[in-house]
Amino acid sequence: MADKFKRVLLKLSGEALMGEDSFGINRSTISRMAEEIAQVTKLGVELAIVIGGGNIFRGIAPGAQGMDRATADYMGMLATVMNALALQDALKSFGVVSRVQSALNIEQVIEPYIRPKALRYLEEKKVVIFAAGTGNPFFTTDTAAALRGAEIGAQIVLKATKVDGIYTADPKKDSSATRYSSITFDEALSKKLEIMDATAFALCRDQKLPIKVFSINKPGALQRVVLGEDEGTLVHI
Ligand code: UDP
Repeated sequence: MADKFKRVLLKLSGEALMGEDSFGINRSTISRMAEEIAQVTKLGVELAIVIGGGNIFRGIAPGAQGMDRATADYMGMLATVMNALALQDALKSFGVVSRVQSALNIEQVIEPYIRPKALRYLEEKKVVIFAAGTGNPFFTTDTAAALRGAEIGAQIVLKATKVDGIYTADPKKDSSATRYSSITFDEALSKKLEIMDATAFALCRDQKLPIKVFSINKPGALQRVVLGEDEGTLVHI
């Protein structure tokens, strides 16, 4: 029997809240997401979430073309704040107590990121949602996930994606492609497999923080991952 994780950092991209829609937050999708998260919290796992914003705004999106990059990135960070509030609200309806902390100061809306407070919430078994990424333009929420994951001493970063792991080739194009159950950081680098952006990947590697890539659309996958079962792909040292 595999060991259950005690503290994990879940990276949820904005896309995970979008469902089949082309933009924004889909009610039934976010609700399903919250239900999966609620199941995991019942296992007693300490869960922190870094939420993306790509479903609302991305600094590098075509819609931001011609804009000053830093300005567009601040808009992207604000998009993550909206998602964080929506996720907190959805979690509440499943009886999950959560706290949102923002890397940008918007205190009327969300409390600022304070590491010791985040740690205390986790010890109290509250879900902590980190909003506004790293608080700096030119970064991504993947990097925020690596950073916060390292800061809170998470055992692993769980990256929820549309595919159920890392494949030897694009499974949509190549039917013979197979899923890696695990792969090392070095192998992933040499095979040029894109798992996270380079900054996030390097940070996880330096900090010896493993990454698990798994499908957000597969019911029960999050729970299986948290229980340490063979789900998705593990990237390790
Ligand atoms: N962003 C940023 N700094 C950060 C995190 C995010 O500037 O530390 C901005 C950036 O414009 C990014 C947007 O916020 O495109 C949304 O984040 P991301 O693209 O990582 O969201 P996801 O793709 O996970 O939904």
